[in-house]
Amino acid sequence: MKTQKINLRESSPFGNYGRVVSTKDVFSAINIAHCQNGLHLGALKTHKKIIEGYAKFARKAVEIFISFCPTCNLNKRQLKKALQPIFSTRFLQRLQIDLIAMESKPDNEFRYIGHVVDHFSKFHILFPMRNKTAVETANYLKDLC
Ligand SMILES: [Zn+2]
Repeated sequence: MKTQKINLRESSPFGNYGRVVSTKDVFSAINIAHCQNGLHLGALKTHKKIIEGYAKFARKAVEIFISFCPTCNLNKRQLKKALQPIFSTRFLQRLQIDLIAMESKPDNEFRYIGHVVDHFSKFHILFPMRNKTAVETANYLKDLC
């Protein structure tokens, strides 16, 4: 099937002229030009499409429309913040804590292993724990300091 290009510009004895978009039709005019065959055109191409059929159309209106287009906003690349290194200047200033569950092979009353890594020295400290409550973990950490 052959597609026909629709010429929105009309000719008159005075030359070609473009239609003027009424304020209530601005949204739909931009939307039609912006969404072409399921693709969302950028501001420049959308504006070019619109001015093919309409006289004088503010590009700023197209840019504002596209900035609020939910589909375009989903597809926009998310800017990632650059990772900031974490500095520690002394031993036990910053710790990484992990609890290892040994519930399948408990050692009497001890069912967990507390694992602490010091960020500054990379020193590993292991200690047995009865449960994984914050109180017991804090008590072991107090003994470290
Ligand atoms: Zn869009």
